[in-house]
Amino acid sequence: MANAEKNPKFKKRRRSKKPTDQIDIASERIEILFEQAEAAFNGDPGLSDRYVEIARKISMKYNVPIAQKYKKRYCKHCKKYLVYGANARVRLDSPKKCVLITCENCGKKMRYGYAKPAGAKE
Ligand SMILES: [Zn+2]
Repeated sequence: MANAEKNPKFKKRRRSKKPTDQIDIASERIEILFEQAEAAFNGDPGLSDRYVEIARKISMKYNVPIAQKYKKRYCKHCKKYLVYGANARVRLDSPKKCVLITCENCGKKMRYGYAKPAGAKE
């Protein structure tokens, strides 16, 4: 990130706020894509990964955050769709008060705290 700012070739892209109706459609599409990803996983896991990719692109383009509950459903590192018990392991780390999600595609771990009441609601 810091390198990009120092690079003289790097041009700042002007970002205007998108119309609110577009933002509504974008967040709706993200929701639909994650539902589709879940439905497609049993038949074609590659398709689920593609849906996640599209959802992330929409989220970045329209500057809409992906809902917490969906953020936990894909790997932060390899961006693959995760199904707990199939390609992801979920464990609780009591001393650190966090949920440990291990991605079995890339082997990396993600942590989510459960100490705060805000993080507990799904
Ligand atoms: Zn991964």
